[in-house]
Amino acid sequence: MNFPQRLIDGYSAFAAGRLAREQDRYRELAETGQRPEIMVIGCCDSRVSPEVIFDASPGELFVVRNVANIVPPYAPDERAHGVSAALEFGVGALRIKHIVVLGHARCGGIKAYAEDAAPLSPGDFIGNWMKLMAPAAVKTPRGDLSPAAYLTRLEQANVVNSLDNLMTFPRLARLIEKGKVNVHGAYFGVASGDLSVLDRGSGEFRPVVPEATTFGTPRF
Ligand SMILES: [Zn+2]
Repeated sequence: MNFPQRLIDGYSAFAAGRLAREQDRYRELAETGQRPEIMVIGCCDSRVSPEVIFDASPGELFVVRNVANIVPPYAPDERAHGVSAALEFGVGALRIKHIVVLGHARCGGIKAYAEDAAPLSPGDFIGNWMKLMAPAAVKTPRGDLSPAAYLTRLEQANVVNSLDNLMTFPRLARLIEKGKVNVHGAYFGVASGDLSVLDRGSGEFRPVVPEATTFGTPRF
């Protein structure tokens, strides 16, 4: 058996710690089914785990991850659409109330797109997938931005593009318009650990100040 020892060790720690503490919750969720209210669409990036960043317990987050947290536009054809299937289940069956598109700094998919990277395989799956963010790139001129600042803009514009694409799903768009589903853009700064949330009015990503920090800030 060459199952990674790291995973066996990790599972052992989970079984002795978190599972032991949350066994009742797991049993209850098994019997009653999951009822998460929040769906997160995030990137595959190993540094940007939604459950870790949001300190989530089992059953709280319905997560779909793909390269560069992209929501492809609605395409009701015969082809397989992973994000659409997750949206269909999350919205249609679980009655998710919030959808968060979580972008992040140092995104390899965005960098590959921005630098027009050479294909990693004959299929060029990343290249073809990343073309979905072309509308975001069109709206993000390089101007005289530094390469790093441009990538940040592109990463954030890609979040907005995914939010726009959510509106191409007719049933979801109706639920959003009625206020039954709320959509949000967020951005995680990998090095700093800072989380920003998109303010739809200004189009800016504004930092979320952790509660503990606020509480700990001297008031005089
Ligand atoms: Zn990424």
